[in-house]
Parts: sequence; structure tokens; C-alpha cells
Amino acid sequence: MRQKFVAGNWKMNLTYPGALALISEIADQLGAAKPTDPVVVVCPPFPFLSGVGEHLPKGGSVHLGAQNAHHKEGGAYTGEVEAKMLVSVGCEYVILGHSERRQHFREDDALLGQKLKTALAAGLKPIFCVGESLETREADETFDFIAKQLKDGLFHLSNEEFAQVVIAYEPVWAIGTGKTATSAQAQEVHAFIREQVARAYTAAAATDVSILYGGSANAQNARELFSQPDVDGGLIGGASLKAADFVAIVRSF
Ligand code: PEP
Repeated sequence: MRQKFVAGNWKMNLTYPGALALISEIADQLGAAKPTDPVVVVCPPFPFLSGVGEHLPKGGSVHLGAQNAHHKEGGAYTGEVEAKMLVSVGCEYVILGHSERRQHFREDDALLGQKLKTALAAGLKPIFCVGESLETREADETFDFIAKQLKDGLFHLSNEEFAQVVIAYEPVWAIGTGKTATSAQAQEVHAFIREQVARAYTAAAATDVSILYGGSANAQNARELFSQPDVDGGLIGGASLKAADFVAIVRSF
């Protein structure tokens, strides 16, 4: 069933004490979850996962996610982190295909396909990101570009595997820039993504998949973005680092 969803991507920010302070503030401000509340996920840097996991609010209102995972199942890959390790410290989600990984670490659709498989096999739910650059948008190629990212990166999954996935539409030009997509721009692409899912899988899969918007979403614009019929929540970067802003976004539905 489609779920409302807010995930915080802390990126390469904070120190361990800062991370614990942030999760403690989020826990205090959110309190106990009601059944109608969105699924809330926080994605701290790897070294903080275990400690942040221990400070999640009691009752399971906030879930733990990682920002990346390696595509192999263990072995001689110095400095890397495998999906099963993430599960062993309490992670339920993993962000894959973030534009910063695609751009700075040259992660392509073939590699992301392997990462998805390994993460799913370990029991993680992937938050799979797609999104066009400003150049692509200005060339009026957004829909073709998104369709290709979905086809090459995601649609090789089986129906059962796909049912575990959350999609995040993150226009690259909106990430960390303060230039949010308008709610109409977000809705247009989200509806398109849902249509592609219906074609690749089933109408039920398209109805059920949660599609998040990411790109300079904040406490001021979240309500308008989340009011769109195909926007099921947000993947939040900068605004997830302040407890009051993040909690306000969670309460924006
Ligand atoms: C992100 O990096 O996933 C993101 C949406 O960042 P920001 O909210 O800072 O634009």
C-alpha cells in the first residue's frame, strides 16, 4: 500500500555528538507516532548509524537508513560497506542512485542495478533516486531522461523486488540550491513516473509505490508540494539537519 514518507539525508555532515543531539531532538519533538503519520527515516553517515539507531524514539516512529551500500556481498573491498552490515546495525532503508553518487562517484545505471539487487537480497528497502540536470530540463528532455533512468536502473527488478522500493524524484538543479521545483513541476514528473511503473509492472504496483520529491524542500514549501496527488512525501537534505524544520516537514501532510 502506498505510504506517506519523509526521509532525511544527513549527507557528510555533523560529528557523532551532533548526530546524537539531532536525533534526540527529533525524537523529543516527534513523540509517539499515530497510525496515520508518515513513515519517517533518518539517514546519517555510516559511523553514526549504530549510535543514532540507539537513540531513535521508542515505538518505531522513526526508521534508520543508510546513504549508500556497496554492490558486492562482502570481501576484499577496503573502505566499503556492505548491505548486510547495514542491516546488522538496524538499517531498514538505503538511498541508492543519489545524484551526488552518480556525479562524484560515477555510479551508473549498471552499477546501481547491482546495488539494488544486493541491498534487496540483504533485506534493505531502497530509496532509488532519479532526476534531470538543468541542461536536460532546458533541452526539454526531462521525460526521456527519467524514463531511461527508470528503465536502465530500476525496471530490471522482479515484481516482488520492486514492491520494496521507494522512488525519489530529485531534479539535480533543485538539490541544495534553494531552487525548489514548483508543485506543478513535481506533480507532472511524479505522474509520469507512476505511468512508467504501470507500464513496466502493473497498475497496482503504480498505485502502491511511494514517490518522494527531493530538492530544496523545506518547512515552508513542503505542504504545497505534498498536497499534489502523486507526491507522497520528501527526501530532505539541508532541512533535515535542523530538528524543528524536519519535524515541521513531517507534519506537513
Ligand atoms: C538531497 O540531497 O537528497 C536533497 C534533497 O538535498 P536538499 O534538500 O538539500 O536539496
